[in-house]
Amino acid sequence: MILYRLKSLLPEVYRNILPELFEKKLPKEKAATCSDCAMCAEAGDVTSLGIRFSKETKCCTHYPKLPNYLVGAILENNDLKIRKGQERVHQIIRSRVGVVPLGILSTRKYDLLYRQSPLAFGKSSTMLCPFFRKDEGLCSIYPFWNATCITWFCKYNAGYDGQIFWIALLRYLGHVERVLAQYAIYKIGLEAGNILFPKTITEPWTERDFDDQPPDEDAYQRQWKEWAGREEDFYKEAYGLILTLSRDDFDRMAGIQQEILIKDLEAKYRELVRPILPKILRRNPKLIVEKTKQGTYILTGYSPFDPIEVSKRIYDMLDFFDGYQSNKDACGFILDQLGAEPTNELLLSLYQFRILIATE
Ligand code: SF4
Ligand code: SF4
Repeated sequence: MILYRLKSLLPEVYRNILPELFEKKLPKEKAATCSDCAMCAEAGDVTSLGIRFSKETKCCTHYPKLPNYLVGAILENNDLKIRKGQERVHQIIRSRVGVVPLGILSTRKYDLLYRQSPLAFGKSSTMLCPFFRKDEGLCSIYPFWNATCITWFCKYNAGYDGQIFWIALLRYLGHVERVLAQYAIYKIGLEAGNILFPKTITEPWTERDFDDQPPDEDAYQRQWKEWAGREEDFYKEAYGLILTLSRDDFDRMAGIQQEILIKDLEAKYRELVRPILPKILRRNPKLIVEKTKQGTYILTGYSPFDPIEVSKRIYDMLDFFDGYQSNKDACGFILDQLGAEPTNELLLSLYQFRILIATE
């Protein structure tokens, strides 16, 4: 099993400021095989309900909101591998579309389409991330990922328990990004109005929103003040400021919200690395079952992206878990009637993928 430190997943800018938890180790999510995308499987491979992603997009049908200091980190990096990503960032900044002191953001039109397009996720070229490299099928700005790109996987070693850990990390890092991006603007000295997100959902749309155009000149100047035309310098300055922070500095500015989120993340981490199997289980009443031509079963317990395939023998065991008798008793009946007993490891896996669930 390949283990890595949690902090090694994050851009270096965070390494001196995040709490002890980020020193801990975690198994690599081995089922999300990104270079040979697990969701772009050929016909016949295990998928649920026939869901497959396009090789042209993979799961990158999402526009990541890049906080200002990460934009600066990309611009300051000298590694040739990031060159294409830097070019893309230069282009976006020149376009002024979604270019604000908080960072580089998706447009209102993109956000609206995204909310309406769950069935297009992983497939639509219209929704393709601007940082995706079509020629290589890879990300051009790795490792400068935002919270969403760091924490999203289509499949998890530990099924649902893995998913809820990564969602807790997403919430935590989302808070970190907001705090740091706002701190940078505040320290650089732009007006407080720029520290807040620029447009609310209720504000009327203009033709510029519909046509993905930048704000008019006056609005743009109001937003950027003396930094208009020097946005790249602004982002680099934001990056430099965050690099000077210590963990104590960060703790002070991140406040009680950080403490709450880190406690939740620690709890999810413990559940992930030391899972506890409930003593009484039952078959998930919402289980989606598909029978294959080979006589095996594809079972979807918690996510259509992460089903598991089991033999008929294992499938037949599920009904013995009725939510009343203990797992031990259920295993005894299975041995009597089917001549084989599920191991603890198999039970844990069926539970983590929510094929079997705890009784309330
Ligand atoms: S996380 Fe995305 S790129 Fe990686 S295997 Fe899953 S769908 Fe493919
Ligand atoms: S930033 Fe990279 S990983 Fe994230 S959605 Fe875009 S291409 Fe994919």
